[in-house]
Amino acid sequence: MSRSAHPAGPRHADVLPEGHYTAPAEDLNALDPKVWAHTVGRDADGVVTVGGITVTQLAEEYGTPAYILDEADFRDRARAWRTAFGTDADVFYAGKAFLSRAVVRWLDEEGLNLDVCSGGELATALAAGMPAERIAFHGNNKSPEEIERAVRAGVGRIVLDSFQEIVRVAHLAQSLGKRQRVQIRITVGVEAHTHEFIATAHEDQKFGIPLAGGQAAEAVRRALQLDGLEVIGIHSHIGSQIFDMSGFEVAAHRVVGLLKDIRDEHGVELPEIDLGGGLGIAYTSDDDPREPHEIAKALTEIVTRECESARLATPRISVEPGRAIVGPTAFTLYEVGTVKPLDGLRTYVSVDGGMSDNIRTALYDAEYSVALVSRTSDAEPMLVRVVGKHCESGDIVVKDAFLPGDLAPGDLLAVPATGAYCRSMASNYNHVLRPPVVSVRDGAARVIVRRETEEDLLRLDVG
Ligand SMILES: *Cc1c(COP(=O)(O)O)cnc(C)c1O
Repeated sequence: MSRSAHPAGPRHADVLPEGHYTAPAEDLNALDPKVWAHTVGRDADGVVTVGGITVTQLAEEYGTPAYILDEADFRDRARAWRTAFGTDADVFYAGKAFLSRAVVRWLDEEGLNLDVCSGGELATALAAGMPAERIAFHGNNKSPEEIERAVRAGVGRIVLDSFQEIVRVAHLAQSLGKRQRVQIRITVGVEAHTHEFIATAHEDQKFGIPLAGGQAAEAVRRALQLDGLEVIGIHSHIGSQIFDMSGFEVAAHRVVGLLKDIRDEHGVELPEIDLGGGLGIAYTSDDDPREPHEIAKALTEIVTRECESARLATPRISVEPGRAIVGPTAFTLYEVGTVKPLDGLRTYVSVDGGMSDNIRTALYDAEYSVALVSRTSDAEPMLVRVVGKHCESGDIVVKDAFLPGDLAPGDLLAVPATGAYCRSMASNYNHVLRPPVVSVRDGAARVIVRRETEEDLLRLDVG
């Protein structure tokens, strides 16, 4: 999934050729602003601070592991997306990246809309007071109960994902005396990941209705005939952790082609197109993500150009960044438990969390960086693998990294860029308790999602 972004050579070597992994030239105490939240720095004693609070204070007060989220950074990034797209476009934050009531309120205040993809996410959004008309409901298998709740609540759009769902939503809306605004999610035969995109045969997936073979056109034909539905546009989401805009270019070209066919066949110009999310962030210093204003400019130009050549009025664009907003705003704070040097191989550093708080390394072979944050060190770098405490040898947090050679139990490590798809994908494997999310801002910290307790675990276990 992810490209090799590590300075240290082959990623899949189990046994490392001696001398192959060379220590990085950069100072291990330095914190690359690309991968850390905006307010992160070191104080005069070398202790890392965020939002004006030291990690040692945070660890003492809230324990480890903990996700530490920089609220000012979250708001800055949300606002940057909102501003970049202006008033002619909508930004929907993809709630699946990380959702809590505090986050919903920040989004509301910053003028963003919200994507949800389950009844649980919808409940969280509504509980925090997000106006229903600014919520989009996604998913390839929404239950009839979920659809009914969404329609009753008055969500701004439901993104339809199959022929059966077109009929299901239409009937439910009609039986409630409503006309539901919907988009139809199509697959355009483009799949993008990181630096490449593949423009063939990627309809072979569970999401969306293929453009190929006229299926998407048929879906639109059917939806337009149903009284319970108001078809407002076409939706396409091509991948994740994307840096290269050319996948969006091909997707926009194909979506606009469909809009043109719809106009020609039905005399209807659909007013909206949604190009999805998937914009990449820096997990390591080797990643070079684009700024929201560059992305907005590129996407707007692509859609405008395609529409001009198809002689269509430019539809309203929406985008759905999740990772690109929340990902860089948080780091996971861990305490080192054991340091185990394996002669000629590497040193295994065990922390007090692992795959239960960050499954991405095991699931996607994702790459992360890591730093010693409770102090600085001038010791020689050592090659490490940061692992968790679970009974699973694939329980790796950071596969290849360099840390100071004097690393010891009790030191605090932080793994940056864990704001997206870490807490939201967290599990209770080994009955390990899910960490809290602590937000910091202007010298104050508060828990926005509390740490799980053994009582929480036992409450579900009804004996
Ligand atoms: C997952 C997803 C997103 C968000 O993806 P990110 O990589 O977090 O930006 C947006 N839209 C849809 C439909 C998705 O499934």
